Amino acid sequence: MKRNWEGVVLKVMGAKDFTLKVTGREEITPDFLRVHVRDGGLLKASGLHPTMWIRLWFDDCGKAHQRAYTLVDADPVAGTFSMDFAMHSGVAADWARTAQAGDTIDATVQGSSFSFPQPAPRRIWVVGDPASIPAINSLLDVRGEVPVTAWLEYQHDADPSLEVRASDSDVVTWIPRKRDGAALVEEVCGSLTSGSVAVAEDFFWIACEASSTRAIVKHLRKVLGVDKHRIDALGYWRAQVLTRASSGSPFCLQEG
Ligand SMILES: Cc1cc2nc3c(=O)[nH]c(=O)nc-3n(C[C@H](O)[C@H](O)[C@H](O)COP(=O)(O)OP(=O)(O)OC[C@H]3O[C@@H](n4cnc5c(N)ncnc54)[C@H](O)[C@@H]3O)c2cc1C
Repeated sequence: MKRNWEGVVLKVMGAKDFTLKVTGREEITPDFLRVHVRDGGLLKASGLHPTMWIRLWFDDCGKAHQRAYTLVDADPVAGTFSMDFAMHSGVAADWARTAQAGDTIDATVQGSSFSFPQPAPRRIWVVGDPASIPAINSLLDVRGEVPVTAWLEYQHDADPSLEVRASDSDVVTWIPRKRDGAALVEEVCGSLTSGSVAVAEDFFWIACEASSTRAIVKHLRKVLGVDKHRIDALGYWRAQVLTRASSGSPFCLQEG
């Protein structure tokens, strides 16, 4: 599989490449799969930080298809980690659905960074969905005593059963995805007010669908005046209508 211009740009930026070997696959729910891999030296060479993600290179009918996935339960000594795949119709999700022990996949490390804010925030406000639960859990693992309020959008009945490593004093609310994400945005923005938020003391970690992420960050910056250094936000996926050009293997035309 030939990599596209993204591969060239990443190389110029000093990206490191590895080959991961699948050792097994687990169904956490019918819509959320965990794939276990040997890391091909990745953890030793790149270190590990909370919310760490890598770029996987999938084969989309001979064309390179790059998507980001988060490390789960990484063990640098054993050289292993897992990745959780929120299911939908897409090349990456389809790969996870059929991945078997012995399969390999190329990975690139470039762009992931996170350090826990210091001094510790008064509260962390989190917005995510199943795709960002692996990162959210790694954030919860290092937040110490800092309380967390989280909103998680879901599309499948079993999603709210997914493990969220919250404590009893945290507040976690699952919100069904409705009106292209507007339900989540309204709930979050209606709750994040000058009365509930300590603008100069709180930290905001937002990783859901791209336009929802943008709308929530706009609310934080423009309405509440939150400093950008107090916000860590990234659109984790983009809602789009499936066309042959933008979709994965269901529409893949095989030659011959
Ligand atoms: C830093 C980072 C870390 C990430 N970590 C993870 C992770 O650990 N686990 C994980 O599951 N995802 C993770 N994601 C999200 C993942 O990269 C995207 O969901 C990606 O688009 C999936 O690629 P695909 O080839 O399966 O689908 P695409 O070809 O990108 O999209 C195909 C169709 O599926 C829809 N779609 C794509 N993703 C989702 C979704 N999550 N939910 C609902 N519909 C979707 C699209 O709107 C489109 O219609 C991460 C994203 C980022 C930026």
